[in-house]
Amino acid sequence: QAHLDRISAVDADIHAFLHVSDHALDVAADIDRRRAAGEELGPVAGVPLAIKDVLVTTDMPSTSGSKILEGYLSPYDATVVARARAAGLVPLGKTNMDEFAMGSSTEHSAYGPTRNPWDLERIPGGSGGGSAAAVAAFEAPLALGSDTGGSIRQPAHVTGTVGLKPTYGAVSRYGAIALASSLDQVGPVTRTVLDSGLLHDVIGGHDPHDSTSLAHEWPSFAAAAREGATGEVLKGLKVGVIRELPDSGFQQGVSQSFRAALAAMEAQGAEIVEISAPHFEYGVAAYYLILPAEASSNLAKFDSVRFGLRVDVPGGTVEDVMARTRDAGFGDEVKRRIILGTYALSAGYYDAYYGSAQKVRTLIQRDFAEAFAQVDVIATPSAPTTAFKLGEKIDDPLQMYLNDVTTIPANLAGVPGISIPSGLAAEDGLPVGIQFLAPAYEDARLYRVGAALE
Ligand code: GLN
Repeated sequence: QAHLDRISAVDADIHAFLHVSDHALDVAADIDRRRAAGEELGPVAGVPLAIKDVLVTTDMPSTSGSKILEGYLSPYDATVVARARAAGLVPLGKTNMDEFAMGSSTEHSAYGPTRNPWDLERIPGGSGGGSAAAVAAFEAPLALGSDTGGSIRQPAHVTGTVGLKPTYGAVSRYGAIALASSLDQVGPVTRTVLDSGLLHDVIGGHDPHDSTSLAHEWPSFAAAAREGATGEVLKGLKVGVIRELPDSGFQQGVSQSFRAALAAMEAQGAEIVEISAPHFEYGVAAYYLILPAEASSNLAKFDSVRFGLRVDVPGGTVEDVMARTRDAGFGDEVKRRIILGTYALSAGYYDAYYGSAQKVRTLIQRDFAEAFAQVDVIATPSAPTTAFKLGEKIDDPLQMYLNDVTTIPANLAGVPGISIPSGLAAEDGLPVGIQFLAPAYEDARLYRVGAALE
């Protein structure tokens, strides 16, 4: 009830939610009854959960921020949602996002932007700005996001929250409306590292419905966060800093906060090691070929027949109906990426664009492999700037894309990454995050390090 009250009080301004559940209190009451009847319930039972609208749910519409899916009700729950319900989490509602998770500001939502609770004139990051804003504004204690190129970590950075992208394959993608299938991962957005671990423990683990789901025994991430909180992990921890990451393009307060966080780690016994990751900076270029290519294929299913919107064209052909529906249902950014993707995949261009991008992806994976032979984690600023103003980058897609420079390489390489708050930028008083990356399967290491710094 407290969270529903908070949503009523602030969400008209923030617009974190696209849909608020009308039966959250019934679900909560049921959990109370089960607890009163002596049932053993897990640590998160009864805790409200905000769900990014990219995840399908049977009891609330799932739009992925697009008009083409307005009002769409899924016949099944995403695996992460089903697991959340089974653990007694109480779905509060569906959160706003850039259309089909394409964006860094939530301004590409077909339902209007979300605003940053720290400053309503500024963006909450994206694509999962709704989940991050809901958590930052105390509308929800826990939220689910998805991260294809930074959509969990960059919103966490600009809202002062914790966001973690798991190892690729660690959390099921079943029921996560696909953006780029080789990059997408679902993960938690929370206020603390321990909260993130508690939620990750619920949603993670092998799922036979997802062919890329890893069959791996994961440790408890909540336990890792508790272990990390002692700070012991920092003693002798080797933290890699990327030599090639250009200082230019990073806002002063972001760089300052990053250096201060490194100094604090050093003071507690960590060793800062300069590493070379020469291909890291080509991540954005490779990503904006690979992602549109995969997205153009994934979005082909919105054809006016199988899902969502259909615009009737009296006397028109099937193709007319499809074309008019896709024209009316997709926003500009989605159309831009479909065109980019189909172009990059077309005969004659495939090797030059998609093929080259895949090679760069392999080089980035090798950079990571070499780096992790020398260090335990890599640290970067989570994003180049603090929250920018609404409207500031909306007409300049390239500027928007460059916001992902530090987050994208982890998706290309499949490694886990966390963004945790590292203070406020001196010049604007807005939140800044620090990102840690670990080798694949070492998500628990990120919980230890993150909790140590909290
Ligand atoms: N900002 C990135 C993009 O626009 C990230 C998207 C994501 O992680 N879903 O593609």
